Amino acid sequence: NPLQGAQFVLAAHRVQQLPIDEGAEVAFAGRSNAGKSSALNALTGHKGLARTSKTPGRTQQMVAFSLPTVLRGETSQPIATRLIDLPGYGYAKVPDALREHWRHEIDRYLHVRRSLRGVVLIVDIRHPLKDFDRTMLDFCLGTVLPCHVLMTKADKLSRNQAGQALAALRNEIGTNAPVTMQVFSAPDGTGVEEARTAVMRLLEG
Ligand code: GDP
Repeated sequence: NPLQGAQFVLAAHRVQQLPIDEGAEVAFAGRSNAGKSSALNALTGHKGLARTSKTPGRTQQMVAFSLPTVLRGETSQPIATRLIDLPGYGYAKVPDALREHWRHEIDRYLHVRRSLRGVVLIVDIRHPLKDFDRTMLDFCLGTVLPCHVLMTKADKLSRNQAGQALAALRNEIGTNAPVTMQVFSAPDGTGVEEARTAVMRLLEG
Protein backbone atom coordinates (compact mmCIF):
# COMPACT_ATOMS: atom_id res chain seq x y z
CA ASN A 1 0.00 0.00 0.00
CA PRO A 2 1.74 3.20 -1.20
CA LEU A 3 -0.37 5.30 1.19
CA GLN A 4 0.65 3.30 4.25
CA GLY A 5 2.75 5.17 6.78
CA ALA A 6 1.06 8.53 6.26
CA GLN A 7 1.96 10.89 9.09
CA PHE A 8 0.32 13.98 10.53
CA VAL A 9 2.37 17.07 9.67
CA LEU A 10 0.25 20.05 10.71
CA ALA A 11 -3.22 21.55 10.87
CA ALA A 12 -3.84 24.95 9.27
CA HIS A 13 -6.54 27.59 9.30
CA ARG A 14 -5.15 29.33 6.25
CA VAL A 15 -3.51 28.27 3.01
CA GLN A 16 -0.30 30.13 3.95
CA GLN A 17 0.13 27.88 7.00
CA LEU A 18 0.30 24.70 4.92
CA PRO A 19 3.65 22.96 4.31
CA ILE A 20 5.94 24.61 1.78
CA ASP A 21 4.38 24.35 -1.66
CA GLU A 22 6.76 21.80 -3.17
CA GLY A 23 6.37 18.21 -4.31
CA ALA A 24 2.99 16.69 -5.06
CA GLU A 25 -0.19 16.51 -3.02
CA VAL A 26 -3.77 15.30 -3.34
CA ALA A 27 -6.59 17.00 -1.44
CA PHE A 28 -9.55 15.20 0.13
CA ALA A 29 -12.83 17.08 0.24
CA GLY A 30 -16.32 16.16 1.33
CA ARG A 31 -19.32 17.42 3.21
CA SER A 32 -19.18 16.96 6.96
CA ASN A 33 -20.19 13.42 7.84
CA ALA A 34 -19.84 12.16 4.27
CA GLY A 35 -17.21 9.70 5.50
CA LYS A 36 -14.00 11.50 4.56
CA SER A 37 -12.06 10.64 7.73
CA SER A 38 -13.08 7.00 7.49
CA ALA A 39 -11.99 6.94 3.84
CA LEU A 40 -8.60 8.50 4.67
CA ASN A 41 -8.08 5.98 7.45
CA ALA A 42 -9.03 3.05 5.21
CA LEU A 43 -6.76 4.25 2.39
CA THR A 44 -3.75 4.79 4.61
CA GLY A 45 -4.44 1.69 6.69
CA HIS A 46 -4.17 3.86 9.80
CA LYS A 47 -7.31 3.73 11.93
CA GLY A 48 -6.59 6.85 13.93
CA LEU A 49 -5.05 9.04 11.24
CA ALA A 50 -8.01 11.32 10.56
CA ARG A 51 -10.40 11.64 13.46
CA THR A 52 -13.80 10.21 12.72
CA SER A 53 -16.71 11.60 14.62
CA LYS A 54 -20.43 11.37 14.87
CA THR A 55 -20.73 15.07 15.61
CA PRO A 56 -20.36 17.00 12.37
CA GLY A 57 -19.25 20.60 12.20
CA ARG A 58 -16.72 20.58 15.00
CA THR A 59 -13.49 22.60 14.78
CA GLN A 60 -12.34 22.62 11.21
CA GLN A 61 -8.88 22.80 9.80
CA MET A 62 -6.90 21.83 6.75
CA VAL A 63 -4.73 18.91 7.82
CA ALA A 64 -1.54 17.88 6.04
CA PHE A 65 -0.23 14.29 6.09
CA SER A 66 3.11 13.32 4.60
CA LEU A 67 3.43 10.08 2.66
CA PRO A 68 6.52 7.89 2.73
CA THR A 69 6.27 7.43 -1.03
CA VAL A 70 8.79 9.51 -2.93
CA LEU A 71 8.14 9.99 -6.62
CA ARG A 72 10.79 10.73 -9.23
CA GLY A 73 10.46 13.80 -11.42
CA GLU A 74 11.54 14.24 -15.03
CA THR A 75 15.16 14.78 -14.06
CA SER A 76 14.76 11.99 -11.48
CA GLN A 77 14.87 14.44 -8.57
CA PRO A 78 12.88 13.15 -5.56
CA ILE A 79 9.37 14.52 -5.13
CA ALA A 80 7.81 14.50 -1.65
CA THR A 81 4.14 13.50 -1.52
CA ARG A 82 1.31 14.59 0.80
CA LEU A 83 -2.39 14.25 1.41
CA ILE A 84 -4.38 17.31 2.48
CA ASP A 85 -7.64 16.84 4.39
CA LEU A 86 -9.86 19.83 3.63
CA PRO A 87 -12.60 20.86 6.06
CA GLY A 88 -16.10 19.71 5.16
CA TYR A 89 -18.01 22.91 5.62
CA GLY A 90 -21.19 21.86 3.84
CA TYR A 91 -23.26 21.23 6.91
CA ALA A 92 -26.28 23.14 8.14
CA LYS A 93 -24.90 23.65 11.64
CA VAL A 94 -21.72 25.37 10.47
CA PRO A 95 -22.17 29.12 11.12
CA ASP A 96 -22.38 31.23 7.95
CA ALA A 97 -19.19 33.16 8.68
CA LEU A 98 -17.19 29.96 9.12
CA ARG A 99 -18.69 28.44 6.00
CA GLU A 100 -17.73 31.56 4.06
CA HIS A 101 -14.20 31.47 5.48
CA TRP A 102 -13.71 27.90 4.29
CA ARG A 103 -15.36 28.47 0.95
CA HIS A 104 -12.87 31.24 0.38
CA GLU A 105 -9.82 29.37 1.71
CA ILE A 106 -10.60 26.20 -0.25
CA ASP A 107 -11.18 28.21 -3.42
CA ARG A 108 -7.83 29.95 -2.85
CA TYR A 109 -6.10 26.70 -2.05
CA LEU A 110 -7.33 25.06 -5.26
CA HIS A 111 -6.22 28.05 -7.32
CA VAL A 112 -2.82 28.93 -5.83
CA ARG A 113 -1.43 25.62 -4.67
CA ARG A 114 1.14 24.57 -7.25
CA SER A 115 1.88 21.15 -5.73
CA LEU A 116 -1.81 20.20 -5.86
CA ARG A 117 -2.27 17.44 -8.45
CA GLY A 118 -5.88 16.50 -7.92
CA VAL A 119 -8.87 16.23 -5.62
CA VAL A 120 -10.59 13.23 -4.12
CA LEU A 121 -14.20 14.16 -3.42
CA ILE A 122 -16.02 11.97 -0.91
CA VAL A 123 -19.78 11.77 -1.33
CA ASP A 124 -22.37 9.64 0.43
CA ILE A 125 -23.57 7.23 -2.27
CA ARG A 126 -27.14 7.70 -1.04
CA HIS A 127 -27.01 11.50 -1.48
CA PRO A 128 -24.49 12.38 -4.18
CA LEU A 129 -23.91 15.90 -5.48
CA LYS A 130 -25.28 18.18 -2.79
CA ASP A 131 -24.46 21.89 -3.15
CA PHE A 132 -21.03 21.48 -1.54
CA ASP A 133 -20.12 18.68 -3.97
CA ARG A 134 -21.18 20.70 -6.99
CA THR A 135 -19.18 23.67 -5.77
CA MET A 136 -16.10 21.46 -5.37
CA LEU A 137 -16.56 19.92 -8.81
CA ASP A 138 -17.00 23.37 -10.34
CA PHE A 139 -13.82 24.56 -8.59
CA CYS A 140 -11.97 21.56 -10.04
CA LEU A 141 -13.35 21.98 -13.53
CA GLY A 142 -12.63 25.72 -13.35
CA THR A 143 -9.00 25.17 -12.41
CA VAL A 144 -8.58 22.08 -14.65
CA LEU A 145 -7.71 19.86 -11.70
CA PRO A 146 -8.55 16.19 -12.10
CA CYS A 147 -11.06 14.91 -9.59
CA HIS A 148 -11.81 11.41 -8.36
CA VAL A 149 -15.15 10.88 -6.63
CA LEU A 150 -15.45 8.22 -3.93
CA MET A 151 -19.09 7.25 -3.55
CA THR A 152 -18.80 5.95 -0.03
CA LYS A 153 -21.10 4.07 2.37
CA ALA A 154 -21.83 1.64 -0.47
CA ASP A 155 -22.45 -0.99 2.23
CA LYS A 156 -25.73 0.85 2.89
CA LEU A 157 -26.99 -0.16 -0.57
CA SER A 158 -27.29 -3.42 -2.46
CA ARG A 159 -24.63 -4.06 -5.12
CA ASN A 160 -27.24 -3.37 -7.74
CA GLN A 161 -28.33 -0.07 -6.22
CA ALA A 162 -24.71 1.00 -5.80
CA GLY A 163 -24.04 0.23 -9.46
CA GLN A 164 -27.06 2.28 -10.45
CA ALA A 165 -25.93 5.23 -8.32
CA LEU A 166 -22.50 5.10 -9.98
CA ALA A 167 -24.01 5.00 -13.46
CA ALA A 168 -26.35 7.89 -12.62
CA LEU A 169 -23.48 10.06 -11.37
CA ARG A 170 -21.36 9.22 -14.41
CA ASN A 171 -24.26 10.18 -16.61
CA GLU A 172 -24.82 13.42 -14.73
CA ILE A 173 -21.18 14.53 -14.78
CA GLY A 174 -20.62 13.45 -18.36
CA THR A 175 -17.68 11.63 -19.86
CA ASN A 176 -15.77 14.69 -21.09
CA ALA A 177 -15.04 16.13 -17.64
CA PRO A 178 -11.69 15.12 -16.04
CA VAL A 179 -13.64 13.35 -13.32
CA THR A 180 -13.42 9.66 -12.45
CA MET A 181 -15.63 7.94 -9.90
CA GLN A 182 -16.02 4.71 -8.02
CA VAL A 183 -18.00 2.91 -5.35
CA PHE A 184 -16.37 2.76 -1.91
CA SER A 185 -17.00 1.50 1.62
CA ALA A 186 -14.75 2.01 4.62
CA PRO A 187 -16.01 -0.83 6.88
CA ASP A 188 -16.05 -3.59 4.27
CA GLY A 189 -13.13 -2.34 2.18
CA THR A 190 -15.03 -2.08 -1.10
CA GLY A 191 -13.02 -0.08 -3.62
CA VAL A 192 -10.08 0.61 -1.29
CA GLU A 193 -7.46 -0.74 -3.72
CA GLU A 194 -9.06 1.08 -6.62
CA ALA A 195 -9.01 4.32 -4.64
CA ARG A 196 -5.34 3.91 -3.67
CA THR A 197 -4.48 3.46 -7.32
CA ALA A 198 -6.50 6.57 -8.18
CA VAL A 199 -4.67 8.65 -5.54
CA MET A 200 -1.29 7.48 -6.85
CA ARG A 201 -2.36 8.25 -10.41
CA LEU A 202 -3.28 11.79 -9.32
CA LEU A 203 0.00 12.25 -7.43
CA GLU A 204 1.98 11.09 -10.44
CA GLY A 205 -0.05 13.63 -12.44
P1 GDP B 1 -16.36 12.93 7.90
O1 GDP B 1 -17.07 13.95 8.72
O2 GDP B 1 -16.63 13.11 6.44
O3 GDP B 1 -14.89 12.81 8.19
O4 GDP B 1 -17.05 11.53 8.23
P2 GDP B 1 -16.59 10.31 9.17
O5 GDP B 1 -15.55 9.50 8.50
O6 GDP B 1 -16.30 10.82 10.54
O7 GDP B 1 -17.92 9.44 9.15
C1 GDP B 1 -19.17 9.98 9.53
C2 GDP B 1 -20.07 8.85 9.99
O8 GDP B 1 -20.31 7.95 8.90
C3 GDP B 1 -19.45 8.01 11.09
O9 GDP B 1 -20.48 7.60 11.94
C4 GDP B 1 -18.86 6.82 10.33
O10 GDP B 1 -18.78 5.66 11.12
C5 GDP B 1 -19.84 6.64 9.20
N1 GDP B 1 -19.20 6.09 7.99
C6 GDP B 1 -18.12 6.57 7.36
N2 GDP B 1 -17.82 5.83 6.27
C7 GDP B 1 -18.74 4.84 6.21
C8 GDP B 1 -18.98 3.73 5.32
O11 GDP B 1 -18.29 3.50 4.32
N3 GDP B 1 -20.05 2.94 5.61
C9 GDP B 1 -20.86 3.16 6.69
N4 GDP B 1 -21.89 2.34 6.87
N5 GDP B 1 -20.67 4.19 7.54
C10 GDP B 1 -19.62 5.00 7.32
